[in-house]
Amino acid sequence: VNLVQHSTVYCTRANPRRDPLGIALHNTVTQVLVAPSPNGSWHYEVDRDAAGTVHQYINDKDYAWHVRACDEWRPPWVVWRDTRVSEANSCTVGIELVSFAGHPQCPAGYLPYTDAQYQATKELLALLYQRYGPLPIVTHGSLQLDRTDPVALDLARLSLVWRGDGYRFEEETVVEDTTPEERAEMQPYFEMLGVPVNMETALMKRAALAYKRGETRGPATSGEYPHGDHVRQDFTAGTADFDPATGGVGWVELNLERAA
Ligand SMILES: [Zn+2]
Repeated sequence: VNLVQHSTVYCTRANPRRDPLGIALHNTVTQVLVAPSPNGSWHYEVDRDAAGTVHQYINDKDYAWHVRACDEWRPPWVVWRDTRVSEANSCTVGIELVSFAGHPQCPAGYLPYTDAQYQATKELLALLYQRYGPLPIVTHGSLQLDRTDPVALDLARLSLVWRGDGYRFEEETVVEDTTPEERAEMQPYFEMLGVPVNMETALMKRAALAYKRGETRGPATSGEYPHGDHVRQDFTAGTADFDPATGGVGWVELNLERAA
């Protein structure tokens, strides 16, 4: 990620500094970069330039002023940590994407987010996940009654998957990251489950991601496959990807007993 760091006085210093518990996404309602002000501030801002430059104004562990209130929805992980700012601000890192999207005074001025912004935002989320683990990710509009942003942001394109208390960033690069030995280990398991063993498909990548993480909610189906039934769980969540009209994907929800 192409990161440029700035400083601003428009934030609240945390003492002691604390790791964020979540991430809130916004759009700026401008078509150019805008700096924090007494009216609002944020940790990161993803520009519309060709490089998708990310500007950072505030330390992750200090508080920005980007969510006034959780008067529409208060996720369970939002808790008061510092009463000098709103509870959401005391828990979240704020990320703004520069876009005019949905500006009420400029309905024709909608600017879709650029490819570079999507890419840079994914890299920024990956960086935050490296630092703090799989933080829940929410939109400003889901928290606060009088906000709808980020307008028209394609969350699936950011590899965000809904997990009940927020989205999680699940970058599907695991297939490229797997070793030949790991692929050889996975292949018979996927074949047994009826998963199409095609390294290029999203279904395969998602299953491989779950497999590598060892996500499971039940006992192993056989001693050879210690990760249990996470593939079925993962694919149950992914049935929307299967298009019976084309028949191209070739996966149907599977009964493990029958398969075994
Ligand atoms: Zn916002």
